[in-house]
Amino acid sequence: MARYTGAVCRQCRRENQKLFLKGDRCYSDKCAMVRRSFPPGQHGQNQMRRKTSEYGLQLRAKQKAKRYYGVLESQFAKYFEMAERKTGITGENLLRILETRLDNVVYRAGFAMSRKEARQLVLHRHFKVNGQVVNIPSFLVKEGDKVSVKSVDSSKIKESAEKNSARPTPAWMSRDNEKMSVSIDKMPERDDIDFDIEEQLIVELYSK
Ligand code: SF4
Repeated sequence: MARYTGAVCRQCRRENQKLFLKGDRCYSDKCAMVRRSFPPGQHGQNQMRRKTSEYGLQLRAKQKAKRYYGVLESQFAKYFEMAERKTGITGENLLRILETRLDNVVYRAGFAMSRKEARQLVLHRHFKVNGQVVNIPSFLVKEGDKVSVKSVDSSKIKESAEKNSARPTPAWMSRDNEKMSVSIDKMPERDDIDFDIEEQLIVELYSK
């Protein structure tokens, strides 16, 4: 299964925004966005002063969303096609699809410190959806689904759940800390998604 294997913090620096790709480190002063909040590369600091074209803004918005959710180009393009086919606003549909990926749900529920870790845990069969083990990170949950930890004794998941217990659970899901599960109460609306992105720019890019 293809995945990005390059330097991770570089992605945040390129997008000039914390994308929370590394778990604990992202909340510490070791975060590269705290230490060097300018684009990577030899001329990174000069790029801060450069005016970005309309196309550049659209491209950056797409790259930012892809990196935030840990999705590669071809899959992202497929999600866009799905979003276009649905009724409603395409940009919001796209974000809703990305949010309902199982790896994102596991991360948002606080069972993993990053989406990358959530993806690994799902691949290693640590989660069930409606009582059935699902090992597909891109599995899309729907309203009424229940995502639970296969073994509540898993120390890694327990540790993450404890560390993240103070992190608010998104409004579209409810978490049962004892049973280590989350229920999907509704599909996420745009206001429920705390991702600072102008999704309309992505729609403009793909509509060219
Ligand atoms: Fe991004 Fe986390 Fe690296 Fe900071 S530590 S730059 S938020 S991945």
